[in-house]
Amino acid sequence: MSVNAILRVAVPAPLYSCFDYLAPEGVNPADLFPGVRLMVPFGKGERCGVLLDLVAESELEMGSLKRASKLLDTEPLLGPDDLELLLWAAEYYRHPIGDVVASALPVRLRKGKSQASAGLPGWKLTPAGVEQELELLTRAPRQAQILRLLQQSQDGLLSQAEIYRDGGECRSILRALEQRGLVEPCEIHSCQVELTDARSVTALQLNRDQQQAVEAVIQSGDGFQPFLLDGITGSGKTEVYLALVERALAAGRQVLILVPEIGLTPQLMQRFQNRLDVPMALLHSGLSDVERELAWSAAARGEARVVIGTRSAVFTPMPRLGLIIVDEEHDLSFKQQEGFRYSARDLALVRARRRECPVVLGSATPSLESLRNAKTGRYIHLMLLERAGSAVPPRLDILDIRSVHLEAGISPTLFRMIQEEIEAGNQALLFLNRRGYSPLLSCYDCGWIAECRRCDARLTYHMGNDLLWCHHCGSQRRADKVCPECKGEKLKPLGQGTERLEQVLAARFPKTGVVRIDRDSTRRKGSLQHMLDQIHQGKHQLLLGTQMLAKGHHFPDVTLVGILDVDQGLFGADYRAAERMAQLITQVSGRAGRAEKPGRVVVQTRHPDHPLIHTLVRNGYGSFALEALQEREAALLPPYSYQVLVRAEATVDRMPRSFLDDAVELGKAMGNGSVEFWGPVPAPMERRAGSFRAHLLVQSNSRGELHRLLASWLPQMRALKSARRVRWSVDVDPQEML
Ligand code: ADP
Ligand code: ZN
Ligand code: ZN
Repeated sequence: MSVNAILRVAVPAPLYSCFDYLAPEGVNPADLFPGVRLMVPFGKGERCGVLLDLVAESELEMGSLKRASKLLDTEPLLGPDDLELLLWAAEYYRHPIGDVVASALPVRLRKGKSQASAGLPGWKLTPAGVEQELELLTRAPRQAQILRLLQQSQDGLLSQAEIYRDGGECRSILRALEQRGLVEPCEIHSCQVELTDARSVTALQLNRDQQQAVEAVIQSGDGFQPFLLDGITGSGKTEVYLALVERALAAGRQVLILVPEIGLTPQLMQRFQNRLDVPMALLHSGLSDVERELAWSAAARGEARVVIGTRSAVFTPMPRLGLIIVDEEHDLSFKQQEGFRYSARDLALVRARRRECPVVLGSATPSLESLRNAKTGRYIHLMLLERAGSAVPPRLDILDIRSVHLEAGISPTLFRMIQEEIEAGNQALLFLNRRGYSPLLSCYDCGWIAECRRCDARLTYHMGNDLLWCHHCGSQRRADKVCPECKGEKLKPLGQGTERLEQVLAARFPKTGVVRIDRDSTRRKGSLQHMLDQIHQGKHQLLLGTQMLAKGHHFPDVTLVGILDVDQGLFGADYRAAERMAQLITQVSGRAGRAEKPGRVVVQTRHPDHPLIHTLVRNGYGSFALEALQEREAALLPPYSYQVLVRAEATVDRMPRSFLDDAVELGKAMGNGSVEFWGPVPAPMERRAGSFRAHLLVQSNSRGELHRLLASWLPQMRALKSARRVRWSVDVDPQEML
């Protein structure tokens, strides 16, 4: 037997160790490389695992080792770099390695299927086709035209979609050329997933700030260096990204671009596609499993030069990776909130450091974490202080709505302003971060309020389908017709949701197109894109919606933004509530006046003297962030300390608490004075979806100390008797305290 004959395999299972196997029958372990998949016996069945390492000794008796049943790949799917990043992430986020490795693979590969070989249908020149002189085809002009397309293409090969795009539908022509032996069908494994017509869009002349930002990145070389591109909305961050991407591509590198939600910002995608004439892989949830896998494989083979994707794209293997960009780095969607709770933004930094390449974090509202890193000099702080082109930043005003009579949450002043914009032919955008018709259904006689039976939460009334809907657990029921308490029949929806706002606006401005954008109105595939197109065509003058409207859109005709309900965000239970609110207000405001027309933003509030609102409106996000950082420093909260949140839940109310009590006792006994235990406390919403939930926050000024504690504490917690009666999870660097 050769020396390293034992296979250490990551098997998807809620277990923290790897598993040892022997090579499958007839396979020489010396021929195996880490990163290949294997089917292995596991429990009563079989699972698909990934080989991590080959070792000489196992903790198990040699005789008790089982054989892997089958080798699935001849080439590794994940390279040594990729595996190291995954091991690092499993360790840091305290998540089972098998799960972590599986989450880096496309779904089909995770399930042990063979790699999809069905690429895009395409056509390529035969050797005769390469030689064929077009002049000799004068009697078949269409054939000559199609053949010319192929001869002019880079490798004598084009996808069918490209041929149809440039040559029109030409199935029969291609067949004719095939019969002459000039072309043959093939499969294309590149990933020009969506083809655009305009590949001719040229770069804009960068302004001085943009140029300086680009220069700064170039100056620092090709090695590891993080940058914070802190540019106000509309300052042209995307142009900076494009310039950097073009440069990296020219140097033969691949580029990874992480974005919060591709579905929400089709315009951004379009801009990249219009400008970069290289195969790109788009990794987003709108793709089928096979499409996703093909894009992934193309990146892994180095064919896709640019990968644009959401959170999980951070794990895409890219052998020639030379630049990482994280757009809207403050966005919460980079943090996975369940299962493997990683932060793609933070892992992008880890990946860049290991890879030794630059990483650019961009935002108009950088997270306090990143701002602090910029302040301490860990990141180079690049600022774009002015709007690009001729646009100017919008003017922000506070509208005091104390003792003002509101209609559907809108004050008379705001109504008048909306009216003016409509008459001037402009667009107005109203932001209300609450979908549905109204957040309460209440009995006029006795004050009863409809509540979720499974959560400590009220039900939102949706008039469109006459449903009461819990936005926390998703449960629904028909809206009551009579009060269950007093049998009264005067049930009234109270408070504002987007649905009600739409109704009121439509009644008030009957001749004006109103469009509502929220999760309900965009449920059908393609409906968001359709609405955005209509907005750009000027079909709607009134735009209203939730935070879906805040993200990255470019609406050149919006001159007025009304923010209707900031107050609920001012007093959140979470110490991050203020930061999130400030980001949201700034991002929504950024939709105003993005082109030639100047913009105005009105923030309605009952707390006009609240320091957050004040600083933000008067001095902007940068000043707000500095103040917020000072508060965090004084209170020793992140980013000045490090946290881990342990969540526990059970259907019996005292179980989560008693488990967390045991955990605290264990942790304290491990005697690490620099780590503090806060709790256990009931979760902000103690009962959700029928479970009782409790939290324990663990905090330290030293990340190292905190992780040292976790390494010994968590295994002992798993062994606790009380752990068996609860579901519990560990969230390293939690972003939400829910
Ligand atoms: P951000 O990503 O910072 O919000 P964008 O990159 O979307 O900003 O740019 C906002 C608008 O300004 C876009 O319409 C873009 O085409 C335009 N723009 C960007 N840079 C320039 C420039 N140097 N000259 C003229 N227009 C520009
Ligand atoms: Zn009642
Ligand atoms: Zn509920």
